[in-house]
Amino acid sequence: MSKLIDIITEEISEMKRKGKDLHWRGRNEKGKMVTGKKAFARERDMNDETYKLRRDVMGHIYDAKRLLRNKFGYDLPRQRIRIIDVHPGAFIHNEGEYIPAYIAGCATRGGNDIYIPAKSIEAGWDLKYIVFHELLHSAFCLPHIKGSLLMNGERFENISNEETEKLFLQHVQESGKI
Ligand SMILES: [Zn+2]
Repeated sequence: MSKLIDIITEEISEMKRKGKDLHWRGRNEKGKMVTGKKAFARERDMNDETYKLRRDVMGHIYDAKRLLRNKFGYDLPRQRIRIIDVHPGAFIHNEGEYIPAYIAGCATRGGNDIYIPAKSIEAGWDLKYIVFHELLHSAFCLPHIKGSLLMNGERFENISNEETEKLFLQHVQESGKI
């Protein structure tokens, strides 16, 4: 099972609030360490291929929207979905240290932004798992939760779609946002 790490999102939201660039680092083409969003990832241009990838992500957003409406009568706020390519030399700041960014998704905590690397979709990873994980950050402000099969933030757990949905709703309830 590959190691899965995504952006620790409270830092991004904090930087955004202060109007600063995102706390991401990477190496430029000359090998020099640089900071900022552009050093970390690039948004894909919106062409037919990107729209197709984005539609795959949106399918899971609609699933979540429907679940939340049926279960809690809650209207999920609009999520901004971006398809990105992560810079091969990118690092992310994780609990005090910089580690190579090998990520399946990112989100702004409470900011309703979700970034999905094209690679996550093309590699056939469990996209529902990724999108529901990021939604708990972006829409429900949740941090990573040690021991959670959906929200541990370090590992991809091999769970069924039903289990993903069940854990999602459970964490939504715990968030106190509904
Ligand atoms: Zn996460």
